[in-house]
Amino acid sequence: AHLDRIAAVDERVRAFLHVDRETTLAQARAVDERRAAGEELGPLAGVPIAHKDVFTTRDMPTTAGSKILEGWRPPYDATVTARLRAAGLVILGKTNMDEFAMGSSTENSAYGVTRNPWDLDRIPGGSSGGSSAAVAAYEAPLSTGTDTGGSIRQPAAVTGIVGAKPTYGGSSRYGVIAFASSLDTPGPFARNVLDAALLHEAFSGHDVMDSTSVDRPVPPVVEAARRADVGGLRVGVVKEFAGDGYQPGVTARFDETVELLESLGAKVVEVSCPNFAYALPAYYLIAPSECSSNLARFDAMRYGLRVGDDGTRSAEEVMALTRAEGFGPEVKRRIMLGTYALSSGYYDAYYGKAQQVRTLIKRDFEAAFEQVDVLISPTTPTTAFPIGERADDPMSMYLADLCTIPSNLAGNAAVSVPCGLADGMPVGVQIMAPALGDDRVYRVGAAVER
Ligand code: GLN
Repeated sequence: AHLDRIAAVDERVRAFLHVDRETTLAQARAVDERRAAGEELGPLAGVPIAHKDVFTTRDMPTTAGSKILEGWRPPYDATVTARLRAAGLVILGKTNMDEFAMGSSTENSAYGVTRNPWDLDRIPGGSSGGSSAAVAAYEAPLSTGTDTGGSIRQPAAVTGIVGAKPTYGGSSRYGVIAFASSLDTPGPFARNVLDAALLHEAFSGHDVMDSTSVDRPVPPVVEAARRADVGGLRVGVVKEFAGDGYQPGVTARFDETVELLESLGAKVVEVSCPNFAYALPAYYLIAPSECSSNLARFDAMRYGLRVGDDGTRSAEEVMALTRAEGFGPEVKRRIMLGTYALSSGYYDAYYGKAQQVRTLIKRDFEAAFEQVDVLISPTTPTTAFPIGERADDPMSMYLADLCTIPSNLAGNAAVSVPCGLADGMPVGVQIMAPALGDDRVYRVGAAVER
C-alpha cells in the first residue's frame, strides 16, 4: 500500500531519491519467513520505513544529497540501518536531504527540491526534508533523520509530525555520512509520539563501532510515551525564545500549549537562558569547522565522482576539479568558513571562542534543570516558508534553527510535537531535557501532542 502511495504522490512531493519495489518486497517476505520460523520479532516487525539518504545501505545507493557520491554503493550497513533490519522494519527507499545535511529546507540537495505536502510551494524543512515529507504525505508511517542543529525537529515542526533528537551518543553514528561529528545524532520521525518512541527504542543504544556511543541503557521512552502524564512536573518556558521575529500564530499555539500543560497539572515557570542568544553564531563556527575536516575524505580517489582524470593531470588537479564540480555552493561555503576558523592565527579567536560559548550554553541548561524537569519553546520561529524565499540569504535560512541548536551544542534530548496550525500551516512545540532524559521529552510530548 505504501509503495502504491509513493507511486501515486511522490512525483509531486519528491520525498524519495531511491525506491526499489523488488528490494522492498523481498525484505517484507524475509520478515514473514522469520516470523514463520518462530523468531520473536519486536512491535515494528513488518512496518515500512523511509530512510534518510545519509545512512549507508548495502542494497541501495547512498548519496547524502551530494553529486560527489552519485552512484556510490556502500559496502556496509550503518548501525541504524542494521538495527532497522534486525527489528524487521521494511525499508521503502532513501529520502532526499540537503547536501551533507547542511540546510533547513532541502533546497540544497543536488537532486532537486522536496515539497511540503501541506502546500507544495513551501519547504518541508531540512536537512531531513525528504523524511518529514514522506511521513506527512502518508508515503511511510515512520522515517529516520539526523539532527545536527535541528534537522529532525525543524522538518517535523513544519510538516506537522513528531521528530526527536536523542541524547548525543544515544544513537550510533557508525555509517552516517559525517557532517559535524560532535553534534550529529540519528533520530526518529513518526505521526505520533508513541510511534516515534517505538522507533527510537528499535535503533538506539550502545554500539562498539562508534567511540562516542553512550554505554548506558536506552531511557524508557516507550513506557514514558504510554504514560503521557505531566502531573507535578516542573516545566520551564525559555524566556529568550519569544517576541519579535516569532510569527503571531506560532506564539498563539505555543501559549495554548502552556495553558494545556497547566490544566494537566504541570507547574509552569519562566526560565532565563541568557547565553542561548549566542548559540547560533557558535554553531556556525563549530559545525563548519568539523565539516571542513570531515569532508576532506572526498578526494576523488576513494568514493564516487572523479573529474578530469585523463592521464595528463596530477592527483591534486583531479581532486580540485572533482570537488569544484561535486560539491554545491552551501557545502563550499561551509568548508571555507571552517577552514578559515581552524587556521593558525584564527583558531583561538573563532573556534576556541565558539567552544567557550558552547560551555556557557551547557551551563545555562544545567542551571535551568536545577529548577525544572523540562524546558519548552516553539520549535521554529515561523511556519514553513515558500520555496526560494531564503535560498539566496544564508543568514535568514540559519534562523530556522534558532531554538533547536542549543540542545545540539549541549548534547541533550529534545523532541518536536505538533500543536496546531497557524495560517493553515503546522506549528511545532519543542520539549527539551538533560542528556539521557529522553523519556521525559516523550512523556511530556505525548501529553501535549495534538
Ligand atoms: N540547518 C542546520 C545547518 O544547516 C542544521 C542542519 C542539521 O541539523 N543537519 O547546519
